[in-house]
Amino acid sequence: MAATTTWNDPNHCPFCETELETPGAGFVDHLGQNPDCEDGFEAWRSNVAGDVPGGWSG
Ligand SMILES: [Zn+2]
Repeated sequence: MAATTTWNDPNHCPFCETELETPGAGFVDHLGQNPDCEDGFEAWRSNVAGDVPGGWSG
């Protein structure tokens, strides 16, 4: 499951390992262009949401 990915490199998408033009904002753009990665991110976020309240905003 991609939800168990370790996210230690903000310059690359943790789901498809594509290099991002810019960390953070570039990742959001990347998700918008890659539904598979967006699905993985949603699953990952929902997995950690209970453990990290307020960890993600916006
Ligand atoms: Zn990706």
